[in-house]
Amino acid sequence: MFSSVLIANRGEIALRVARTARRLGLRVIAVHSEADAAAPFVAFADEAHCIGPAPARESYLVTERILDVARRTGAECLHPGYGFLSENAEFAEACAAAGVVFVGPPPSAVRAMGLKDAAKSLVEKAGVPVVPGYHGEIQDPAFLKEKAYQIGYPVLIKAVAGGGGKGMRRVDKHADFEEALASCQREASNSFGDARVLIEKYVTAPRHVEVQIFGDRHGNILHVFERDCSMQRRHQKVIEEAPAPGMTPEVRAAFGKAAVEAGRAVGYFGAGTVEFIADGSQGLRPDGFYFMEMNTRLQVEHPVSEAITGLDLVEWQFRVAAGEKLPMRQEDLRIDGHAVEARLYAEEPERGFLPSTGRLHALRLAGGEGIRIDSGVIEGGEVTPFYDPMIAKVIAHGPTRDIALDRLRDALAESVVAGPKTNTRFLCNLIDHPDFRAGKLDTGLIDRNLAALGAVPPERDDAAVAAGALALLAEEKARLAEAAMSRSGWASDPWNATDGFAMAPGRKGEIRLQVEGEPIFLPVDAAGEAILMDLDGPERSFALVEGGDALYVLDRGRQTRLALVDPLDVSFEAGGGDGGGLVKAPMHGKLVAVFVAEGDLVEKGQRVAIVEAMKMEHPVLAPRAGRVEGLAHEAGTQLGEGARIMSIAEADPAS
Ligand code: ADP
Ligand code: ADP
Ligand code: MG
Repeated sequence: MFSSVLIANRGEIALRVARTARRLGLRVIAVHSEADAAAPFVAFADEAHCIGPAPARESYLVTERILDVARRTGAECLHPGYGFLSENAEFAEACAAAGVVFVGPPPSAVRAMGLKDAAKSLVEKAGVPVVPGYHGEIQDPAFLKEKAYQIGYPVLIKAVAGGGGKGMRRVDKHADFEEALASCQREASNSFGDARVLIEKYVTAPRHVEVQIFGDRHGNILHVFERDCSMQRRHQKVIEEAPAPGMTPEVRAAFGKAAVEAGRAVGYFGAGTVEFIADGSQGLRPDGFYFMEMNTRLQVEHPVSEAITGLDLVEWQFRVAAGEKLPMRQEDLRIDGHAVEARLYAEEPERGFLPSTGRLHALRLAGGEGIRIDSGVIEGGEVTPFYDPMIAKVIAHGPTRDIALDRLRDALAESVVAGPKTNTRFLCNLIDHPDFRAGKLDTGLIDRNLAALGAVPPERDDAAVAAGALALLAEEKARLAEAAMSRSGWASDPWNATDGFAMAPGRKGEIRLQVEGEPIFLPVDAAGEAILMDLDGPERSFALVEGGDALYVLDRGRQTRLALVDPLDVSFEAGGGDGGGLVKAPMHGKLVAVFVAEGDLVEKGQRVAIVEAMKMEHPVLAPRAGRVEGLAHEAGTQLGEGARIMSIAEADPAS
């Protein structure tokens, strides 16, 4: 076994790898960007080295900086985690050249599986079923359109170099093909530097079922069962579980065999995942699934496989990299119960799942029986726009699927995250959705049920507002009483004091607040002790968290942000005015396309620009009909959240 490891990653996965490495007696060497200097994985490591500024391109993706640290520290091996350089064959080769063992598969296997078209051709030759479609060289748009027609709609256009759900477009009608192709190619070329695509038949009632495989350098290769990752949004996984609901031993054997054959076809060793798409319309069948791609690394959702087998897959990775044989044989592996993982994200399902950044004023993730939490951030830390906005993975294990799901839902519901918005409430709703509970899974479930899952603009939570306002009121009264006491030596009734009571300036009996940035007035009783609101429904209990200059009121994953309004702030009054025509960047990101010119007339809801952030292209829509004015930026510009892109002036009816 090695005596030291350099972990070329960050966040939750860097910490998770470091824990196993420490247990195996390895010295843990971390590398980090300037933005991550205070991150938990840095604190945990035996030594840590800064490799550059926040953007990954200038730190986590710079081979030379990373290998420089490896050489200086004498790291014996390097674990790449996932994302970043984990599936980069040149990087794996550079490690070898620098005398550092890459904890991963042989570079030749990474390369063979790196492009989806070549990977499909290769496994097809090995007898593994692939999704019908076109994965050839020709990239002429007219030719591709013709191919799509022959394959039959709906089809999926995929970037051959794609990953993470990016560079993928479903097309339902021949007429929509060109626009989808152009948008897919643009995203592919921006994200992967390779605009080439392939076209696949879109499988009906698709289920994503993947198989964890493991090989050693002695020719042994086995599978560690399957995971179902059908709960997806925009082709990205939201909830993953093992085993797959409805799986039978016979079908499992067919999946396992296909996965192992795909691995053998490229001389695989280490951890890998073979992803299949299954036609779920008639349940899982031995002849009803197709190879999609192989990920030549550890997978984000590997903990569910660990939970049902009791294995530590990162330990296996280190053992295989050190030249040991696989510690077990296929027939020694057993499935114990059921495990489910939810990806807790800093994002707002209620606003199209926009990423949400900022300081984590509270982060209290609930544990409990069968609960594992893999997180890379701590209370007081920050979710930055530079990296994946995942806060934690919460994994629940139990004797049955229902028990595991109950445990997961309870852990999420009891967790308190204040600051950035999260998908906690959405996850709880999904876990309890009747189709999901019943194991009626397909990748369209989330999109079909957005409203039922609460992924729509919410009504104001008045009970939360009242609870928060009451707390603010009490605090403000106490503050004023104290101020009055220190001035005069005795306490007057602050509510009747005339010297600028912040909540009732000029208008006695009202409190002014910003609720989620919206100004509101709330009626207050004469003593300033109660909020006068009609609230029906059962009594609820809230967690209150103060952070920055706001109060966060939380209930089972739902967050309401309140702030007292300074009575002297005149912009408050003006706030509700005509911001209506302003087109702003919905988040920190890059303006990749502007579809209108100065003076153009647009319809309400028309797509006027695209902002790319984090993982995706986000369309920017005209907030009303009118004329484009004051175009502020060109395509290619980096924008901060809320940056003005243009205005839509009300069109003069005469013109
Ligand atoms: P997986 O296929 O392993 O389930 P995804 O496809 O959801 O993972 O992840 C998208 C890409 O982003 C993958 O390349 C994954 O390795 C990477 N990724 C996801 N989360 C993180 C993270 N917290 N840190 C670094 N990379 C990540
Ligand atoms: P990525 O590299 O981005 O993970 P994949 O090829 O694995 O790309 O596809 C991502 C997701 O898109 C899959 O998990 C699945 O939900 C969906 N998908 C991919 N191919 C098909 C297909 N042919 N039919 C239906 N859904 C598909
Ligand atoms: Mg995939």
